[in-house]
Amino acid sequence: MLRLPTFTYESPATIDEVLALLADNPGRARLVAGGTDLLPNMKHGIEEADIVVSLSRLPGLSALAELPDGGVSIGAMMTLETLASHPTVRARYPSLAQAVGLVAGPHHRRMGTLGGNVCLNTRCVYINQTHFWRESLGYCLKKDGSACHVVKGGKRCVAAASNDSAPVLMTLGARLVLTSQARGERIVGIDDFFQRDGVQNKVLEADEMLLRVELPAPAAGLHGAYMKLRVRDSIDFPRLSVAVAFALRDGAVHDLAIVVSALAAVPQRMRNVTELAEGRAPDEGLFEEIGAACFGQCHPLSNIDGDATYRREMVPVYVKRALRAAIEGGVSS
Ligand SMILES: Cc1cc2nc3c(=O)[nH]c(=O)nc-3n(C[C@H](O)[C@H](O)[C@H](O)COP(=O)(O)OP(=O)(O)OC[C@H]3O[C@@H](n4cnc5c(N)ncnc54)[C@H](O)[C@@H]3O)c2cc1C
Ligand code: SF4
Repeated sequence: MLRLPTFTYESPATIDEVLALLADNPGRARLVAGGTDLLPNMKHGIEEADIVVSLSRLPGLSALAELPDGGVSIGAMMTLETLASHPTVRARYPSLAQAVGLVAGPHHRRMGTLGGNVCLNTRCVYINQTHFWRESLGYCLKKDGSACHVVKGGKRCVAAASNDSAPVLMTLGARLVLTSQARGERIVGIDDFFQRDGVQNKVLEADEMLLRVELPAPAAGLHGAYMKLRVRDSIDFPRLSVAVAFALRDGAVHDLAIVVSALAAVPQRMRNVTELAEGRAPDEGLFEEIGAACFGQCHPLSNIDGDATYRREMVPVYVKRALRAAIEGGVSS
């Protein structure tokens, strides 16, 4: 049986106390929300902490609030189960409800939070293993070693962003509200939140926490959908994920956004698809062109399970399915 290492557990009742613990213990304290990712990783020795700071007693971080601009603010501690079934989210941002409803299994979604999902660690077949397994291989760049087994001679970890919420939040233009004791609150657009380093693929500093996720008001006629390739339609992380969003007005597509993830450390925003689709009818001909454009931009690596060539072949398939699903049902009211 895998055991957790020894650590001090803190459960503060205020955000100020949380931030003080992070500031007073630089790099040694870790936040835990639902614990569905951090704790397994600590059992495997992939992540370490002297102090684990629970966010579960903090008031007011589990709610959804309306914003003056017609958007919403969602507290970082809202569980995925609550988010997936929230009437406002299902009505206005159905692709987000859909994506978080596909995370892991029911028990994980009951414990797991939006904040934990946004801040999820990257994944790789060479790191998500027991300590014994990784030691036998000589470890790797992400933890304890000096080489990457995916990109031979590579100097940067390319472990995959595997969080289901991230690509959808990117298509919806989310803003993340972060806070720290030293610098107070700052707002980071979600495209600027992720960075190309599988060791730390977020700009979140060690003394910072995510307070809430803000979504702008949905555009008139917003359609969106999320598609996830995985081994089993339950529990498994994505081998490939696709989020799409566009506004459908007078029978024409506007402002198409597509993000493909589970490729490398950053969910990848597809280039040129907005221009390609602008003002055109959402028909199979257009979907074919968009699928081909995405195929040309996606180059899956052997960082997560599933043959990389197969995952690449699935890019246009999943892009077209997501576009069809968005037309058929993923509409915001
Ligand atoms: C079997 C299994 C299958 C899974 N399948 C999927 C899947 O298909 N898709 C998927 O996306 N995930 C999956 N997960 C991972 C996990 O369950 C979810 O991503 C979940 O949303 C994580 O949320 P949490 O609250 O449990 O995070 P935690 O484990 O508590 O934290 C995760 C990370 O986020 C940080 N963090 C948490 N909250 C904050 C905050 N407010 N501010 C700053 N940092 C914070 C923690 O320090 C930690 O680094 C799976 C996990 C398991 C065990
Ligand atoms: S991508 Fe390379 S460095 Fe990163 S976890 Fe995998 S093997 Fe390790």
